[in-house]
Amino acid sequence: MVSLDVDDTIAAIASAPGSGLRGIVRVSGPRTLALVETLFENCDLRGFPNRIRPSSTRGQIEIDEGLKVDIDLYLWPTKRSYTRQPTAEFHLIGSRPVLEMVLNKICGGGARLARPGEFTLRAFLSGRIDLTQAEAVLAVIDSSGEQQLDTALRQMAGGLAGPLGSIRDDLMGTLAELEAGLDFVEEDIEFITRPQLLKQLESAGQKLETIQKQISLRDRGTEASRVVLWGEPNSGKSSLFNALLGTQQSIVTEVAGTTTDFLVGELVLKSMKLDLVDTAGAEERSEYVSSQAQQHRIEQQEQADARLFCIDSLRETTPWEKQQLSNLTTACVVVLTKIDLHSSKSTRLTDLSQQIRDVGFDGPLVATSSESGVGLESLGEEISLAVINSQSTDQSIVGTTVLRASESLRDASAAVGHAKNAVIHQLGDELVASEIRRSLEALGQVVGAIYTDDILDLVFGRFCIGK
Ligand code: GDP
Repeated sequence: MVSLDVDDTIAAIASAPGSGLRGIVRVSGPRTLALVETLFENCDLRGFPNRIRPSSTRGQIEIDEGLKVDIDLYLWPTKRSYTRQPTAEFHLIGSRPVLEMVLNKICGGGARLARPGEFTLRAFLSGRIDLTQAEAVLAVIDSSGEQQLDTALRQMAGGLAGPLGSIRDDLMGTLAELEAGLDFVEEDIEFITRPQLLKQLESAGQKLETIQKQISLRDRGTEASRVVLWGEPNSGKSSLFNALLGTQQSIVTEVAGTTTDFLVGELVLKSMKLDLVDTAGAEERSEYVSSQAQQHRIEQQEQADARLFCIDSLRETTPWEKQQLSNLTTACVVVLTKIDLHSSKSTRLTDLSQQIRDVGFDGPLVATSSESGVGLESLGEEISLAVINSQSTDQSIVGTTVLRASESLRDASAAVGHAKNAVIHQLGDELVASEIRRSLEALGQVVGAIYTDDILDLVFGRFCIGK
């Protein structure tokens, strides 16, 4: 659950896990400056100028009795920081234990540990960024490959927030003029002429259409996207197939293979129709499986829009799995299966995830149990994203935004269309105004001017701590 409380001062390690040369601890909130002054020896913040760029200084913090570490302190003392609250970054040696000791010291001084994505959440709540930019921040962190990074960076810089903001401003202006006219209807004062009104609505409609084109997926007609389960025998594919379909009233059809069949189940995720394919044993790379069956399996893989690579979390990764992971072509989600069979103290999942990262896989990784259902919802999200990323006609908007905002954008566009028709057919200004309000409401949902806790959970729940 995200926290809307911005009065606390929050702190977290902001550098990536693992050993790096330098590490960062980030602090933000009203008590930041007081904290810095207490922690740093001989630190006088009065001289810190009020600039957009951070001011920096060097100093030492005592993290244990007699044990001091050198720190480069970067300080944004005013609301011109990322979160629009006083913010400090402590840059120091990248050792995890030392970073944790510094973090403890900061929390001992009155800060609390930040929740995942909380710095970006504050940037959003303070109005520094809109929801599409918050999603882009996450996409920058998660991006694998130049194209994805480029898309995310452009969106973070306001590639979508800018045009959406200007359409909202224009529509609000039009609405104000219309409403003023309605207020003075008796006096016969016209604040906006019909041709002007039509022109403004047409312009908003065109801009919305351009954004919708960017967001729309490749037209597949009624054809469903294909998601193929894949992995070693006994890795839990069939169980996952059933678990994913179990929650929906689905039709499972057996498609005759050669020596073995494969199953196709219909799955609907985020209004997308998907065919989930279980190659049901055809993947076995043994001599018992005919080459025709293997050919079938390869064809399924090649036609896939996304693949779910199941890895049994109880076993070590096999050489075949490692080789597959380092050679990916289609969008792939790695699924660590059977996690209900681990004791709560086991570090196996963390170790296994690290092994998978070490072979070079930097895509989505979800731990699931087909027994208990844990992780299936997150897996659903990742499947939708993988499919969207593989299908966007114009990859200029990050997948999470496409998923979240498509429907609202469609509503916004439709309402502008209705408003235009109402003007053309002279249906009265009340009706035109109410359609413009509907459009503004839908746009408000896209940028986050109107939001619910669920939406914030959806967007910020995916972040890691420290961002
Ligand atoms: P496939 O050969 O990859 O399709 O693997 P299966 O789905 O047939 O699973 C192999 C074995 O692992 C079966 O005995 C399943 O019951 C078991 N299994 C699969 N997923 C889970 C899970 O999430 N939890 C538990 N406890 N067992 C599982």
